[in-house]
Amino acid sequence: MRGTEVVVVGAGQAGLSAAYHLRRAGLTPGPGFVVLDHAPGPGGAWQFRWPSLTYGKVHGMHSLPGMELTGADRARPSSEVIARYFEEYERAFGLEVLRPVEVRAVREGEGGRLRVETSAGVWSARALINATGTWDRPFVPRVPGQETFRGRQLHTVGYRGPEEFAGLRVVVVGGGASGTQHLLELAPYAAATAWVTRRPPVFREGPFDEDAGRAAVAMVEERVREGLPPRSVVSVTGLPLNDAIREGLRSGVLDRLPMFDRMTPEGVAWADGRAFPADVVLWATGFRPSVGHLAPLRLREPGGGIRLVGTRAAADPRVHLVGYGPSASTIGANRAGRAAVREVRRLLEGGPGSLDTAEAA
Ligand SMILES: Cc1cc2nc3c(=O)[nH]c(=O)nc-3n(C[C@H](O)[C@H](O)[C@H](O)COP(=O)(O)OP(=O)(O)OC[C@H]3O[C@@H](n4cnc5c(N)ncnc54)[C@H](O)[C@@H]3O)c2cc1C
Repeated sequence: MRGTEVVVVGAGQAGLSAAYHLRRAGLTPGPGFVVLDHAPGPGGAWQFRWPSLTYGKVHGMHSLPGMELTGADRARPSSEVIARYFEEYERAFGLEVLRPVEVRAVREGEGGRLRVETSAGVWSARALINATGTWDRPFVPRVPGQETFRGRQLHTVGYRGPEEFAGLRVVVVGGGASGTQHLLELAPYAAATAWVTRRPPVFREGPFDEDAGRAAVAMVEERVREGLPPRSVVSVTGLPLNDAIREGLRSGVLDRLPMFDRMTPEGVAWADGRAFPADVVLWATGFRPSVGHLAPLRLREPGGGIRLVGTRAAADPRVHLVGYGPSASTIGANRAGRAAVREVRRLLEGGPGSLDTAEAA
């Protein structure tokens, strides 16, 4: 068993922001903190995003603290651009990410410490900053007849670009940014497409200013404060009405159908008798937070979410969640990393909320 002050789980935007602030606070990799990530290389979940998601197509990617991402080629896949940027960032600040290391369980350790069980052994830590994102937990809803469908089903995580759908009939399910991007890419290749969403999509006119951003974050924050599962950002912001979306609406590619009631061997069907024969159903139905390894700490509320006070788990002051709920954006992840480190420092120094005070109380 190795001892350290703080374990950071995940080296995406949120984990690297936290590691940067830990370093600035004077902690050193090894005795001060370790960053563990189970992916093969730098880049967080970005390294797995589909090649046709070029850097020019991602909207509002914020740089990590302390080092701007400049001069990136907008035509290159964001998976490459961001993986390279994160790699340089880790090197520039000496963050020494350990990978691939899978964190399997975090549980109560000895002497008020946390026991972090991984594929590379056990760490004992005084605090944990969890930054594991959502990419590892794709969500697909259950639909009657799903197992009878003879075609192919895949989730956004398995999407590699539009070419493989040439000549096929494709149903895209999901009203978020991924669903609309998949459809707009696929439509010129596919024999036919259908777009299906649970709720009617809400399109947002005009620029997304800071006030709108703050209001959206506040709505997600409110849920997390109540211990409810966080909602996606699009569910509170709506879809930005850009030129590509406008063209999709005009051409009919983005004519939305309500969620189908069942799947059949041939495709999808609605209770009113409508049907769409399909070769492929592409589920762009989002993700859930990857927090299964925290289960032994019993942080979950009856509502199904982890209640947070800022970034701190209400049920355990040693645990912070960054990139979770209201901080699940690149800018939110940056800020959450800084906020978590501010509190973790207080805890390590024996200030309010420290282990010493908690034990004495
Ligand atoms: C398709 C898509 C496009 C997006 N575009 C934008 C955008 O344009 N702008 C924006 O602000 N946001 C965007 N987002 C959201 C954005 O990706 C996130 O807010 C942010 O990048 C996530 O950073 P993160 O550090 O929280 O998570 P991630 O980047 O997912 O990093 C989590 C890391 O944790 C590791 N990990 C997970 N579980 C474990 C474990 N048990 N043990 C060890 N390691 C583990 C993973 O390997 C991964 O490296 C997009 C999301 C998606 C899905």
